[in-house]
Amino acid sequence: MLGIEEALKIVIDRVSPNGTEFIDADLAIGRVLREAIVSDLDLPPFDRARMDGYAIRGGETTNATSAAPVRLVGIGEIAAGSFFDGELGPGEAVRIMTGAPVPLGADAVERIEVIAVDQDGSILLREPVAPGKNITPRAFEVACGALVVEPGEMITPALAAVMATFGYAKVEVGVSPRVALISTGNELVGVAERPGPGKIRDSNAKVLAGYVLEAGGEVVSTAMVDDDLEATVRAIREAMEVADLILLSGGVSMGDYDLVKPALRHCGAEIQFERVAMHPGKPTVFASRGEKLIFGLPGNPVSVAVAFFLFVRPALRRWQGATQIELARSRAICTARVKGAPPRRSHQPGRLRIVDGCALIDPLRWSGSGDLVGFMNASALIVVPEETAEIEPGQLTGIIEIPQQAAVARRRL
Ligand code: AMP
Ligand code: MG
Repeated sequence: MLGIEEALKIVIDRVSPNGTEFIDADLAIGRVLREAIVSDLDLPPFDRARMDGYAIRGGETTNATSAAPVRLVGIGEIAAGSFFDGELGPGEAVRIMTGAPVPLGADAVERIEVIAVDQDGSILLREPVAPGKNITPRAFEVACGALVVEPGEMITPALAAVMATFGYAKVEVGVSPRVALISTGNELVGVAERPGPGKIRDSNAKVLAGYVLEAGGEVVSTAMVDDDLEATVRAIREAMEVADLILLSGGVSMGDYDLVKPALRHCGAEIQFERVAMHPGKPTVFASRGEKLIFGLPGNPVSVAVAFFLFVRPALRRWQGATQIELARSRAICTARVKGAPPRRSHQPGRLRIVDGCALIDPLRWSGSGDLVGFMNASALIVVPEETAEIEPGQLTGIIEIPQQAAVARRRL
């Protein structure tokens, strides 16, 4: 059976980065940056005080002691947002606030807490202050003209702050892939309905819509179809009209009513793979027709999520030109026994916590790949290797962190 890496390679080889557009930086969180961010100014733009205190000339304090303090004359004050119009001369000090520009002539800032002010108003320094103390020099963080961020990064809130600092009101991002969702199954009813005997509400469309948004895609249509070849074919054809990528759920197992693959063939799609050595999610299907990419995801809610993270999310990210397309992997100590599924690699829901700087993963009790309420509490997937029958408590294990937050900055601020 096809391994996960081979399957991912098949997907990735079918996807190339698409076009770009300029959008309001306010709306860009969750999208993929496609231009370089270059600084248009020094940061900080001036020698900046790191403390509230006095700006002084450090060299004048070399011999300062408690017994014989150095006396300076205060000649003014600088708050953040203003600057000192003049130069500090010998024997002078200027009161300065955190974040304010250090005046010409000064080369150090001494904190207010260690400074005494004499009755006559003179400023007393009782110990030497090294030149440079408590000053962040101009351009220390970033020099004007420097390449700050390379294209291909996902735009996070912190990156949005960086773009704002360097004046990017508009930013070039990868166009969002248009995604159509099709939930298949005779058992499905809409969220607003009360399921009759043998029926369930369609939840896959919701989880997929959220993950698509998080990955920078845009859901352009949703449909619910019965296990009926004609209806499925019609839904796929309609989706192809409006979407770049189609995500079907359900109908890919071995049941008599699993009609997604025949429907895809009917629509002229080529099936690239239809089974992957993974658990859950073995019957995951990937097909393409021209530039259109189609995933047939297994119906079980947890299988849907796992297959989405392993294959669909990387495809969506690459489509937008992202450099990092896979979810971050790390390691944690497993706190309880986890059964594997040899010879398939297994992904099981767990909850990550950090104790004394050590990453621990608690396997979640869940009753199988249909248990979406159990899955809701997962913050990571525990990866059980192909050949591993069981992970023992205390053993270090690979994990994949699950994105929890769909990007919601889709509204002008
Ligand atoms: P299937 O792959 O079509 O055999 O579906 C497997 C199981 O997943 C079904 O028995 C349902 O319980 C569940 N399922 C399928 N589609 C959905 C859906 N859209 N929302 C929630 N559960 C679903
Ligand atoms: Mg079904």
